[in-house]
Amino acid sequence: MLDINPFESAKKKLDIAAEVIDLKPNTLEYLKKVERSLIVSMPVVMDDGSLEIFEGYRVHHSTLRGPAKGGLRYSPDVTLDEIKALAFLMTFKTSLLELPLGGSKGGICVDRKKLSTDELRKLTRRYTSEILTMIGPDIDILAPDMNTGEREMAWIMDTYSMNKGRSIPGVVTGKPIEIGGTVGRTEAPGTGMYYILQSLCERQNISLTSSKVAIQGFGKVGSVVAQILSDVGCKIIAITDSEGGIHSDKGLNINKLISWKQQGKSLKDYKGNKVEIITNEALFGTKCDILIPAATENQIFSGNADDIDCKMILEGANSPTTSQADIILNEKGIIIIPDILANAGGLCVSYFEYIQDIHSYFWNLERVNSEMRRILLRAFEFVLNLSSEKDITYRTAAYAIGGERLARAHELRGLFP
Ligand code: GLU
Repeated sequence: MLDINPFESAKKKLDIAAEVIDLKPNTLEYLKKVERSLIVSMPVVMDDGSLEIFEGYRVHHSTLRGPAKGGLRYSPDVTLDEIKALAFLMTFKTSLLELPLGGSKGGICVDRKKLSTDELRKLTRRYTSEILTMIGPDIDILAPDMNTGEREMAWIMDTYSMNKGRSIPGVVTGKPIEIGGTVGRTEAPGTGMYYILQSLCERQNISLTSSKVAIQGFGKVGSVVAQILSDVGCKIIAITDSEGGIHSDKGLNINKLISWKQQGKSLKDYKGNKVEIITNEALFGTKCDILIPAATENQIFSGNADDIDCKMILEGANSPTTSQADIILNEKGIIIIPDILANAGGLCVSYFEYIQDIHSYFWNLERVNSEMRRILLRAFEFVLNLSSEKDITYRTAAYAIGGERLARAHELRGLFP
């Protein structure tokens, strides 16, 4: 679909923001480098007795403002530059939210669907052991990302703890509640997106509850946001998974679709009343009020940006929009809530999980959600103010705010030695 290097394109966002905040050239150069990256090979004896060797990465982009924080993804297409780009994005996400954390990311080149549970367990444990020196509650805290979840986080927590000789839940967030996870973490990206959308609609005088929504992705982010928005009265008119999906101007029954997916079936095979099958490409041409890309990177690019017909885009995935598409969408007057704000609910509740683990004192859902709402809306307020003060997009404002805080931390700490 595109051949731009993901890390180069991530750094461009900072270049644009740097002009607004007058970032010193030295600081800019510093922020464009990752602090450290590790490439590891993981040998795994497969169920049939053969040996397969998988490649994986862990990257710390920045620990300027605190221990690194970032997810771990499993995908056959993972590259080191993609992981660098995503670690960079995490640094700006934690900074925008004013969390005392840096940014990191990890990935393993693997098609999760092709591995048995036992093979996945061995792979995850071996990966954890390979990156052991780079992680820990005060070094780098992992979390779920694409194709990883509670089960993988539990294996990571156990492998790390076994190596250290004691239970250390704070090395990873997104764990099961029984071993130090927090309530509300699984739903957090979707819940956070709803809070931001609610606030945006109020400011724009748009009725959220009568909006038509199209969503790409029906996983941990897409399905939760679809459920919340449909519960408050929005019409979800189109939704896709990796194989395509369905469209209905009358609105889709999200509860039925969730149970359909839980049976392991694809959305495109769903047979409902007046439901039309669509491709992922067609989803982006669907006329709607709110478009939510919640699948993966670079889904909105120069080839489909012109077809997009909506008022707002809420980026549920990380980096779903290329820089060229961003320019086209801005010219069309479409409001874009950038990933580092839109989907930051997951990170925010990860931070709550981390501090609950450290204190060994656990919060209830009401506290988790109200603190998340406060932090997200505070960041949103900063973005709105800077955007109107400097007449810049929300994305540039978000990177400028994050960048300014990083620059200040850099200035205060100075360079070692
Ligand atoms: N993988 C998620 C993200 O990209 C969560 C990261 C975290 O919770 O640390 O934001």
